[in-house]
Amino acid sequence: MEIDGESKIIGIRAIVLITMSDTDRGIAWVRSVATLGELYYRIAEKSSHHGFPAGFCHTVGVGGHLSGGGVGTLVRKYGLAADNFLDATLVDQREAVGQRVHGGEDLFWAIRGGGGASFGIIVSWKVRLVPVPPTVTVFTLHRTLEQGAIELLNKWQYVAHKLHEEQCGEKGVVAVFSSSFLGGYAELLQHIGKSFPELGVKRNDCREMSWIQSAVYFAGFTNGEPKEILLDRDFSFYSKVFLKGKSDFVKDPIPLSGWEGIWRRFTAQGAGFMLMDPFGGRMGEILESEIPFPHRRGNLFNIECMVSWRDSGVWTPEKHLDWIRRMHSYMRPYASKHPRAAYLNCRDLDLGKNEEGNTSYSTAKVWGRKYFKNNFKRLAIVKGEVDPEDFFWSEQSIPPLILDKERRSSLIGFKGLISKPEPPIKHFL
Ligand SMILES: Cc1cc2nc3c(=O)[nH]c(=O)nc-3n(C[C@H](O)[C@H](O)[C@H](O)COP(=O)(O)OP(=O)(O)OC[C@H]3O[C@@H](n4cnc5c(N)ncnc54)[C@H](O)[C@@H]3O)c2cc1C
Repeated sequence: MEIDGESKIIGIRAIVLITMSDTDRGIAWVRSVATLGELYYRIAEKSSHHGFPAGFCHTVGVGGHLSGGGVGTLVRKYGLAADNFLDATLVDQREAVGQRVHGGEDLFWAIRGGGGASFGIIVSWKVRLVPVPPTVTVFTLHRTLEQGAIELLNKWQYVAHKLHEEQCGEKGVVAVFSSSFLGGYAELLQHIGKSFPELGVKRNDCREMSWIQSAVYFAGFTNGEPKEILLDRDFSFYSKVFLKGKSDFVKDPIPLSGWEGIWRRFTAQGAGFMLMDPFGGRMGEILESEIPFPHRRGNLFNIECMVSWRDSGVWTPEKHLDWIRRMHSYMRPYASKHPRAAYLNCRDLDLGKNEEGNTSYSTAKVWGRKYFKNNFKRLAIVKGEVDPEDFFWSEQSIPPLILDKERRSSLIGFKGLISKPEPPIKHFL
């Protein structure tokens, strides 16, 4: 890293340390170099009645995932990972050594869903853990076309965002319905029997387990693997696969004919998969401007459409890229509009990108508004304050928008200037 013409190497030791500063109050510090699997594992090591609402895949890094939002099985109950931050330690371009960012300030606001990479290097996060009961019930049901998959998907979108909030992660991968319920199977069957009887969930479909076992289950290990598997950073499936994703948010139910068209596209060459996470619950209670992630009330579910291919020596992504772009175009009438919103953690360079060394606010607005809606301007102003020279530049980084003090303070929603940095916190480096 070069600052003022001087080269300064910033080394973050790859030690994963999760300090439960006060287990009963459910507070932990986690370093950005940790993976989600390590975070979940260390929480479970210290407490059986706490969890953290973040994503499914255990090899995903805390650094990018948490600063971009973080959707997981607990999203309807507790919101995003980024809704549960209390503080952070960050190395920025001005200080280059360390700065604690306090809650309520603009920079702290920006890195909770605005993506850390535009603002500095986040060294660690202070997170609010969430209570989980001793028993979590999960199920996964596969439904084929003949078993009424399309009708079920159609019904799912009407009920999934309204299900009991304890039912947090019903997620459809076209015709795979999987769910995590914070409680025992009897209660789950009662709720789902009322709201979605067509799915036909039975006692035998349900498995009761602890929250940490459910994290193992949703990481894809469904055969009772030990929780230590969450510590495996080199999980071979993900390390040898290439992924391209595109995201959408759905506000109005997709008509049956739309689902039929989606289904047909999955029979084409190069087809990938589609993950759908219902929103509602806590997500509908948080204001769009609370943190940069604006996709809240009114969204029924989000979609992450993915294609993957393996590098077997032959580079053949074309048919997959072609498929996902066609699918994205097919989804236009069913997706949110003005703007057609997108999820930062499913970064899509097809939406546009910065030119090397030149990031203009008006150009970046094209994709910035999709990710952040009206929060984009505030992100650009914060960027203008903490990194006016755009040191932390990348293909879709936030451009600096530099306003004079008067104009800035007249903007609604600002809570004051970035606070004076505290002394460097060297022990994190
Ligand atoms: C297999 C797989 C499963 C996924 N599952 C989910 C899911 O369930 N829910 C969900 O919401 N998302 C999910 N995602 C998306 C995931 O959240 C994003 O890809 C996220 O950006 C990954 O962060 P990373 O740190 O692992 O990746 P990286 O590629 O290392 O980082 C992503 C971005 O964050 C920046 N960054 C990383 N660390 C820091 C830091 N310390 N300080 C500042 N900036 C930093 C990087 O510069 C980069 O711009 C999944 C992705 C994959 C590949």
